[in-house]
Amino acid sequence: MSDFFAVQHAMMPMDHVGYVHNRLDRDTEHRTEDSLSDMMVQTGSRFFLMHGDNVLLSQRGERWNALVCERRAKELGGEMDKIILLGTDPGERNAPRLALPLSDEAAAELEAGDEYELWSLRAVGIKGVLPPDQVGALAQARSLLHWHENHQFCAKCGQKTEIRLAGARRDCPSCEAMHFPRTDPVVIMLAIHKDENGIERCLLGHHTRFEAPMYSTLAGFMEQGETIEAAVRREIFEEAGIEIKAVRYAGSQPWPFPASLMLGCYAEATSSEIFLDETELTDACWFTREEVREMLTRDMDSELPHVPHGFSIASWLIQGWVDGK
Ligand SMILES: [Zn+2]
Repeated sequence: MSDFFAVQHAMMPMDHVGYVHNRLDRDTEHRTEDSLSDMMVQTGSRFFLMHGDNVLLSQRGERWNALVCERRAKELGGEMDKIILLGTDPGERNAPRLALPLSDEAAAELEAGDEYELWSLRAVGIKGVLPPDQVGALAQARSLLHWHENHQFCAKCGQKTEIRLAGARRDCPSCEAMHFPRTDPVVIMLAIHKDENGIERCLLGHHTRFEAPMYSTLAGFMEQGETIEAAVRREIFEEAGIEIKAVRYAGSQPWPFPASLMLGCYAEATSSEIFLDETELTDACWFTREEVREMLTRDMDSELPHVPHGFSIASWLIQGWVDGK
């Protein structure tokens, strides 16, 4: 292996980062109109039942379970005409994994009962109640179901669209337009500044929507025709007035709220005076490694400054810098 790739492999593993592990074989390019019916009858095919950002879980002893069979999915109030295929699970003898939404009435009824609980995907990601690869599959399910829910009508002619290829596309029977699921790229980055004494500090911001004294990396949606590097430079300048030279991509995280892909980067700051965009941030500061190391030890409800939970790529980027990577 060349040194070039060794640099990337030396990065911290993403074991604790949520939604990044998804071992399903999607096989999207070989799907046909029969794929859904073929997969549903296969031995071991199982379904995730979702309601918005939430997934239906049941508990047996210490173990939580998110997968149900077709009969149970129907009994529980799953909307059977909205089933999508996620893929097959090579860790479970290639058993198909599918997902469908629960109707609002069914979700309310299940929540009122004792047997099932609706868990937010955030809580599932943070608390580690499911195997990591299932959490990744749930992120896929959430983003794809959300896309279907919001693309029921053709963007070209306004007619009702139809689900195709087991959920990999929607077609318009009127104007024949084909619509494909979308992912929204977001840059998320840790700016690092080295002062004249060689001391490094990283830039963390307190977002207007944070209630706790939590400080995190800056982030923002990419714009059209923009490179990742340009988006990183633009966002940091807009939010904190800091100028950036080099940008290094470090890793990514699917973020299913509803369908983002977080592109994690480190950015080399060439200025240090902060000009705050107060519509986005209430505060932004430069922190030394020692300060951030201390912040990493505090939990999420601490009243002292702390950083996001380890399941987020923000935390991974921050930890990576503290560890000197
Ligand atoms: Zn149309």
